[in-house]
Amino acid sequence: MRLTKQRKVILEKLKSTTSHPSAVEVYDTVRKELPNISLGTVYRNLDILSREGLIQKIETCGEQKRFDGIPEPHLHVICTDCGRGRDVHQELNLKMEELTRVKTDFKITGVRLELLGVCPECDRS
Ligand SMILES: [Zn+2]
Ligand SMILES: [Zn+2]
Repeated sequence: MRLTKQRKVILEKLKSTTSHPSAVEVYDTVRKELPNISLGTVYRNLDILSREGLIQKIETCGEQKRFDGIPEPHLHVICTDCGRGRDVHQELNLKMEELTRVKTDFKITGVRLELLGVCPECDRS
């Protein structure tokens, strides 16, 4: 994959935050550096980057898709009020491969695991 200037900036911005921003939030940050970029371009590049495995698309938190600069699987805690996701930095003794052996006629292709809660900001209001 060719890393265009735009794609590089988007990737850099995403790697430098832990806030798991939505596409619009990525757009707002990237625009400071590339004033002519459109929201559509940001969407398209986020899609390509996640398909290439350089970032992660988090599909499950709230209405908006959020994006994660860490491509490796890790545990998220998601706020059920605002949809923000945070990383959980803790070693857990979960046997992920056991989850892929559940009895179903589906062909299991992955595991998506997240914790739900209320973030401190939403808890306060
Ligand atoms: Zn919240
Ligand atoms: Zn994350």
